[in-house]
Amino acid sequence: MGLRAAGFVIYRVIRSRVEYLLLQTSYGIHHWTPPKGHVDPGESDLDTALRETEEESGLKKSDLKVLEGFQEILNYEVNGRPKTVTYWLAEIAHEGVEVKLSHEHQDYKWVPLDEACRLAGYSDMVDLLNKCENFILSSNKA
Ligand code: AMP
Repeated sequence: MGLRAAGFVIYRVIRSRVEYLLLQTSYGIHHWTPPKGHVDPGESDLDTALRETEEESGLKKSDLKVLEGFQEILNYEVNGRPKTVTYWLAEIAHEGVEVKLSHEHQDYKWVPLDEACRLAGYSDMVDLLNKCENFILSSNKA
């Protein structure tokens, strides 16, 4: 059985600049990732994405504006097992939201596309972030 996970690419707009939220794992190689996590039995992918986002970043459903029409899936292998991660895209809904990390992450950053791609590293994540940027700019959400 493969691993199934879901999460959100989260962004905010500050002075017309789009900034993405990335979390640095406290496990493994301390890579940077949007909030996401494993789907529990009986849970929908979107509910997982919301639950994991709140657990990992403190950001609740009411803190987010989920963009309609955007959904992307990443596939990679973890310890020889296929992992599928479904991502939605969400904008921070209002000012003054504070990120609160869990023990699973040790740092977070709000960064523009180029820095987000550099931090994320993995080419499929770079592609995903570029798709997000294009979607945001073409739907006038920035
Ligand atoms: P994660 O899925 O982020 O919890 O990471 C689990 C393992 O997969 C870690 O060893 C990561 O370095 C690796 N990993 C995370 N994202 C990717 C990706 N997009 N492509 C390939 N490997 C990844």
